Formats: sequence, C-alpha cells, structure tokens
Amino acid sequence: MRNVVDLSVPFSEKDEAKQLGARWNPERRIWYVPAGVDPGPFARWRGNVADKRLYPLTASEAYLVTASESCWRCDARFTAVAFLLAPGFVLDEHADGGEQLADWAFVDYITRLTPEAVRSAQTVQPAYRQGYSRTTESRYWANHCPSCQALQGDFHLYSEPDGAFWLADAADAARMQARPLQGGFGADGGLALGQEAAWRISGVRAQRSRPDRPPITEVATPSPAKPPASFLGWIKALGRRSKP
Ligand SMILES: [Zn+2]
Repeated sequence: MRNVVDLSVPFSEKDEAKQLGARWNPERRIWYVPAGVDPGPFARWRGNVADKRLYPLTASEAYLVTASESCWRCDARFTAVAFLLAPGFVLDEHADGGEQLADWAFVDYITRLTPEAVRSAQTVQPAYRQGYSRTTESRYWANHCPSCQALQGDFHLYSEPDGAFWLADAADAARMQARPLQGGFGADGGLALGQEAAWRISGVRAQRSRPDRPPITEVATPSPAKPPASFLGWIKALGRRSKP
C-alpha cells in the first residue's frame, strides 16, 4: 500500500486543502494526502513537517520575528529573534493529541527546537544558541549579545514593556519584522499567549483576511486550569497570566 503524504497546512488554508482532497488525521493532528490521490496539487504544503510526536508544540503557520534590542550588560544594539505561532497551533504535552489554540503566541523558554528553526534563527542571530540562565536556573535556546555574549533573558524580551518582543499594540508591532518559517515549526517550550497585535507585524501574511480577532472554528475547548505539574508548566502558566 502506498504511504500517505503528510502536509503542513496553515490553519487559514485548511479549507482549500480539504477541497483538493486532503484529509485530517485527528490523532496525529495533521493534514495528509490519502493513498490513491495524486499528491501533485499539494506541493506547496509538502516538505519538512515537524513530527508532532517529537515536539509538544507544533504549528503549520509560524514566523521568525526580528526586532532591535540592546544588551543589558554592554548596551550594544543587536537584532533579536523570536518564534511566533499563528492561531491554530497545537499544544500536546501528554502525547494524547493535545489541543488547538486560538491565540497568537510567542514561544519562550525553548528547550528543544527543530534543526530547521535553529538554522533560520541563526541566519539572523548567529549568537542564538542554548544557554544557561541564572535567573531561571535552566538551559534554553536564547538570544545572546554578539558583542559580549551575555544571555538575553526571555522574561525581559517578552514580558517587560521595553523588551524587544513586548507586543501590546500597533506601535509595538511596527518595531518588528516577520518572515514565514517554511515547513512548519516544532518545539518544546513555554508560551507567551494573547499576542493579538501580531497580525499587524510586517510580513505576517494573514493580514489580508484577518480582522482584529480571526474567526476560529474547530478549536477544542481548553481543559480547565490545572496546577502545573512541572517547572515548565509553571513557566507556561506564568506566561498566560503575564500578558494583558
Ligand atoms: Zn553585550
């Protein structure tokens, strides 16, 4: 039997893929071309689909976002990088299919990342690498100052109003640039949710069709808040609370 072909379909293009004959696998949370159907018309959605069994966070529509930051230690200015996920990304912490979220989110405190995403980040920020944070007493993929190599903490970048990726309104969005990540995104990390101004960032393609709050269908109801079971869970919970 011929294998099915996995697809990386952005949430906003799912109806189009469905009309062409793609099907949704609810267990693997992925669109695919069924056996017997010509995969030719699906070419633009093929390629490096992040394996949802390897990464708790996956997204078919994700962006590398850049913004200017100044080093807390030596004051040098540099371009910082971040990963932005569009509504429809999947959070699957217990390998049970997880839930599809309707928020825009930055991914922070990343402990694992697809090699493709690392390469994208390092083309812009060669000093993007795993580092040890004394603040969180943990290692994560972090921006580093190209001049003095100091780790630039995620808390400052995402959760303080003068951080490069603080995103409260259109003026904040105007300081950022986005480029789509080809082939989707996969990581293990925390979420800075509720980035509703994200669609205003230059380079986010969804601008054409999205109102302030994109209409979302087929989104699973999030389970009631549970006490986080791990440090990472605590970080995620913190991220959820720390944004307006
Ligand atoms: Zn520095």
